[in-house]
Amino acid sequence: MTVTYHPRTDWQDPARPMSAPVAYDPARVVQVVAHWPGGRVPTSSAGVPKYLRDMEAAYRADPNRGYSVGYSEAVDPWGGRWELRGFTWRCAANSIPGEPVGQENARTFALLFIIGGDVAELPPAMLEAARSSIGDAQLVSGRALALRGHGDLEPTACPGPAVTIARKRGDLTVPYPPTIPNPGEPDMTTARLVRLPGYLNTFLVGAGTPLHLTPELFDNYKAAGVPVVPIAAHAQFTKQVLAQCALSTADLVPGPA
Ligand SMILES: [Zn+2]
Repeated sequence: MTVTYHPRTDWQDPARPMSAPVAYDPARVVQVVAHWPGGRVPTSSAGVPKYLRDMEAAYRADPNRGYSVGYSEAVDPWGGRWELRGFTWRCAANSIPGEPVGQENARTFALLFIIGGDVAELPPAMLEAARSSIGDAQLVSGRALALRGHGDLEPTACPGPAVTIARKRGDLTVPYPPTIPNPGEPDMTTARLVRLPGYLNTFLVGAGTPLHLTPELFDNYKAAGVPVVPIAAHAQFTKQVLAQCALSTADLVPGPA
């Protein structure tokens, strides 16, 4: 399953881009607050951009609002993450009765779940998109964030039963600090073979920095008849080898799978 991140340029009307008066201050953010939109929702991911454009237009036209959509991000049932105010501007999505307007928004990353009231369980793709969003909000703030529903702050049915069930069950909980998998030694699945055009030498490089061949891998390739040159672990050494050929890592092209 893949989460797709959509920047604002994927949905907003270029003639009327979002804007808001106060910058997002991650140092003050302590919680993610979940919302749902109520009313009609799109029936496919293709319908989300227009849906968000209409929501933005409605916010602007609303005499009680007159400002851009108040949520930080939205997630859809198909694994889409949609940047709204994002990490650019403070949200305008919730308040606590009796407290100064805006105070709670300064503490909040507001996450909109684009679902209708008929949804009993959040789809797995939506859960994954939400966890991705919450994980990023935690990374940006550099701390674990509390996860609340809008109804925990003020009297409202928002964000509805499906989000509340998922939240209470821990389905939306993202560990902080994140568990970063140990990249370990390069293997057939994390590394790729590259070949220099016009050269027989083959280098094994990862997505970014060139990696060295382990003796085991070297033997595997040799046994498979793949012409290889073992490269030291040091990326600088690889660059030197390439430089001696008047080449750079940019000259590496995908080799045989
Ligand atoms: Zn709400």
